[in-house]
Amino acid sequence: MKFNDLLTGFIRLHILHHAAEREIYGQWMIDELAHHGYRLSPGTLYPMLHAMERNGYLTSRVLRQGRVGRKLYKATKLGKQGLALAKVRVREFTGEAMKHQG
Ligand SMILES: [Zn+2]
Repeated sequence: MKFNDLLTGFIRLHILHHAAEREIYGQWMIDELAHHGYRLSPGTLYPMLHAMERNGYLTSRVLRQGRVGRKLYKATKLGKQGLALAKVRVREFTGEAMKHQG
């Protein structure tokens, strides 16, 4: 994805936002992000989810559906705290960035 390095923070915030509301899984998140204009491959999203779990922002469980298992993620307390702080920062940034827009 173009500008991936700049936008990964926003993508993580999207993930946290949705994972704080309900359990999410990879393909659902890929579809949701596509609605917002982020085209992510599983090869990009899954390592991101794993890293966020490793860092304590997400927790996961495997839901068995017959022979296949689906990994469901939800935000931890730490993840929700991070999201709350990020929202404050995003609001501040948005205010500043829009003010200087032609
Ligand atoms: Zn979203």
